[in-house]
Amino acid sequence: MPVHTRKFKVNTEADTDIIDITDKVQEELSATGIIAGVALVFVPGSTAAISSIEYESGAVRDLADAIERLIPQDIPYAHDARWHDGNGHSHVRSALLGPSFSVPFADGKLILGAWQQIVLLDFDVRPRRREIIVQIMGG
Ligand code: ZN
Repeated sequence: MPVHTRKFKVNTEADTDIIDITDKVQEELSATGIIAGVALVFVPGSTAAISSIEYESGAVRDLADAIERLIPQDIPYAHDARWHDGNGHSHVRSALLGPSFSVPFADGKLILGAWQQIVLLDFDVRPRRREIIVQIMGG
């Protein structure tokens, strides 16, 4: 079974930047010419995550607010006490949401709901340039 590893880069802002990367993932899939299979979207790094949501400003805001309630920025973190880099909450958020998202595809198109987009979430406390890996398995 052919496996293609594709990559693209995304510039992010600090503090829970949520970016729609669906079109970029589809572009990378289309470039391979593979018709059917599974695409694994992965972000290397311990302060970011990949998920999916209906990408409209209300839902995106609700998600960011929920993450802030679940894993607040303004409480003490052992990581910060040890390393003083101020992103203890970023690591916990990243771990709980996870670094990858798998999506099936057929006829060369990602199979997503009509209102479902793939998103990169960056939780770090400074702007980053993220490399996104798209591992495409299929035929
Ligand atoms: Zn850290």
